[in-house]
Amino acid sequence: MAITLRVDGSEVEVPQGATVLDAVNRLGIALPQLCKDPDRPPLGACRTCLVRVEGQRGLPAACHLPARDGMVVETTHPDAQRVRKAVLDLTLSMLTPAAERDGFSQVGIAAEHHRLAGASWTPHHHFPVDTSKSFFVLDREACILCGRCTTACADVQHIGAISLIGRNHEARVGVFGDGAMSGSICTSCGQCVATCPTGALRPKEAPTRIVRRVDTTCPYCGVGCGIQVAVREDGRLAGMADDAPANPSSRGMLCVKGRFGTGFVHSPDRITTPMVKREGMWHAATWDEALDAAADGLARNAGRFGALASAKATNEDGYVIQKLARLVLGTNNVDHCTRLCHSPSVEAMLVSMGSGATSNSYQDYAEAGCLMVVGADASANHPVIAVRFREAAARGARLIVVNPKRVELCDQADLWIQERPGTDVALFNAMAKVILDEGLARRDWIAARTEGFEAWAASLAGYTLEHAEAVTGVPAEAIAQAARWYARPPFAGSCLIWGMGITQHINGTANAHAVLNLSLVAGQMGFVGSGISPLRGQNNVQGCGDAGCIPTNLPGYADYSTVSLDRFERVWGRRPPAAPGLVVTEMVEGCLDGRVRAMYVVGENPLLSEPDLHHAEKALGQLDCLIVQDLFMHETADRAHVFLPAAAFAEKDGTFTNSERRVQRVRQAIPPPGEVKPDWWITCELARRVARRLGLPERGFDYGHPSEIWDELVGLWPAAAGITYARLEAGGLQWPCPTPDHPGTRFLYGEDFPRGRARFVPVTQGAEAAELPDADFPLSLSTGRLLYHWHGGTLTRRVEGLLELAPRLEIAVHPVDARQLGVETGDRLRMLSRRGELQGYARLTEAVRPGAVFVPFVKFEESAANFLTNSAHDPSARIPEYKVCAVRLERA
Ligand code: SF4
Ligand code: SF4
Repeated sequence: MAITLRVDGSEVEVPQGATVLDAVNRLGIALPQLCKDPDRPPLGACRTCLVRVEGQRGLPAACHLPARDGMVVETTHPDAQRVRKAVLDLTLSMLTPAAERDGFSQVGIAAEHHRLAGASWTPHHHFPVDTSKSFFVLDREACILCGRCTTACADVQHIGAISLIGRNHEARVGVFGDGAMSGSICTSCGQCVATCPTGALRPKEAPTRIVRRVDTTCPYCGVGCGIQVAVREDGRLAGMADDAPANPSSRGMLCVKGRFGTGFVHSPDRITTPMVKREGMWHAATWDEALDAAADGLARNAGRFGALASAKATNEDGYVIQKLARLVLGTNNVDHCTRLCHSPSVEAMLVSMGSGATSNSYQDYAEAGCLMVVGADASANHPVIAVRFREAAARGARLIVVNPKRVELCDQADLWIQERPGTDVALFNAMAKVILDEGLARRDWIAARTEGFEAWAASLAGYTLEHAEAVTGVPAEAIAQAARWYARPPFAGSCLIWGMGITQHINGTANAHAVLNLSLVAGQMGFVGSGISPLRGQNNVQGCGDAGCIPTNLPGYADYSTVSLDRFERVWGRRPPAAPGLVVTEMVEGCLDGRVRAMYVVGENPLLSEPDLHHAEKALGQLDCLIVQDLFMHETADRAHVFLPAAAFAEKDGTFTNSERRVQRVRQAIPPPGEVKPDWWITCELARRVARRLGLPERGFDYGHPSEIWDELVGLWPAAAGITYARLEAGGLQWPCPTPDHPGTRFLYGEDFPRGRARFVPVTQGAEAAELPDADFPLSLSTGRLLYHWHGGTLTRRVEGLLELAPRLEIAVHPVDARQLGVETGDRLRMLSRRGELQGYARLTEAVRPGAVFVPFVKFEESAANFLTNSAHDPSARIPEYKVCAVRLERA
């Protein structure tokens, strides 16, 4: 029921539970509210929103005053104005004249409104400005101690890096130990900067006039946070992006990359004109020259072609790439980076459930009673999802971390299971056996919804707790406890979340089946607060697969049956080939044996992301035609024959699909520089030219806008048929969304599985890894990502502040191993494997096990982890074993 009240003579209606400040704001009345973050509950700290209420004594703060029917409120009453002015005067007196003069945002506006030229008192403190963080400063001279920043850090991001310290006039915002912010646990997420009303926390970038703000989607990871980019009057993006409180995936949060990491679009080394290589030298070319050269190369090698699509580009970009491969070049040799991260998960889920997507939503993490996070360092890779995990732990959910490495989330976990790398099947089979043996299985659900249970249950006979302890190194009681908590959480359901820690192994598919079996036996899917989630890496890795950039399926995961092929032929006017194509790792091998002579690589850098880079370099070096379409001249582009310059995320329209199946709009904020064009435009131009050379019809690549591509895609994909650009204007939609009035689907498998019954798949523990430590290479190397760099760093190494935060390659070594080598933190090291070497700096940490070392994928100088990694792969999903190989360390 609505409440009606009068404010300054105007009637206004607000919902039950609203405050008087809500009513004031609804009328657009200018009332200071310095400590009130529009997206957070009131703090009531600044006392600047004082009002007078008829029939009530005193001057209450509007932010804390519940609105009541018939209330009469005055913001302009002389008493209210006089006291507010005094409060503002005191507030101003906390600021140094310099801060005051700069007219910091809300304080300056409020002071002006109350005709306050300056403070009547001078401050009794002098705090130095903390400039130790790379993107923003903490200027305590401009702080009014409202507490918005500390609340943002503690209650929104669940980090607690800053708090109010000191007393009386020495009270200030500070970090633990009162040192510099750079020495604290601050992750530079910028949540505090975004909420600060005075500019005490403000970006280092000089203020400038913002001419427009554009809502779009973060270009980095698969969380898919909503961001609002601000365009400066010089046409560049402002250094700091804003969050999007209404976005249900990110709920007003961002991490350091989304908030401060968009500057790569203006990098001075962007390639802004097409390039053609002649006699080993790059030459600038017109679009006609470059596209003709590319089309000649592809037409020459029509039967021996492979495309590597981009999981950073839009759904629409991906859709036209697979169409070029299938319709024009007649091959299903089209793949993308999911091969290198979650192909085992997708494959196992397709076999067991009939769908390769995450079953639940981030909201389910918030409502679960137990979260089991396996092989994922979410704080580094999916920081905004990590906030949901911290939040869940804070409100009493059981948090189980399964990871050979001590990741940040272990600090909040109820249980950390540190299994030996490569022993995951033994671990999860033993957990499943505990669930069966202790009567915790959801028997009715299993009987009604699954198949293959009996055979699978029998396959667990040897996976006793004793056996699992011997194989994994995890105490039996810890394994049993994890199984019990997962099967019977203290409330609601359980979510099983996993990352590349279990997929990038020769046992990747078996590992994925082991976790799926665990979820099935516990019946933990298909209801609120439950589900299975492979955390997707890149921003659009889900969408790239949905759009058909996989060799095993057509768009929308359609198989190659006659029915599917007929359907696609009706829309495309040409029948796609029926045999599955080569996956990316096979394409690389195909370069060596002649199966692949031409490649079209869009927005990917395989000479940084493939394992055993020397081998990959040799393979790509055999190509007759390598076309690279990207923003920068990176390692792969260097070896290309044609370079086609593509638009960045802020320079084009389209859609991304995040890890929870949410399709969201990407909107153009600025024009592309120079001759740069959007990917979909380039691919369509190329497709027409190749078709002409091969004597094929050129139709099917004549779109005027990405929305037309999207409409065609969903016309072929029933599960997304209800998602249109018009509907996306109101926010993202999660597929399945089959009809125009369907609200989208928060979780899958509530009533059925796409394949009918879910299937238990027996799996056995195989060899731990293809290459284990020995006398020559006594350490086990694991690789992963860093918070401050994205993957190989092609984008983030071009953002100065991110580079400041992580400027060099660090090798994490256990102190025991470091002592044997006689090295200290900061010492320069050489790391060698059977395939190559790199150089980096030692960082002594107990986060890795003795005998293990860790390096991130990011490339510094000429050092990249993949010079060392092993191309041995999972036989089914063909994912390389990035997570284990044998190395040795030497002093450099
Ligand atoms: S940047 Fe983020 S982590 Fe750092 S103090 Fe601010 S809110 Fe806390
Ligand atoms: S969590 Fe991922 S999507 Fe969100 S801001 Fe960070 S990088 Fe972007």
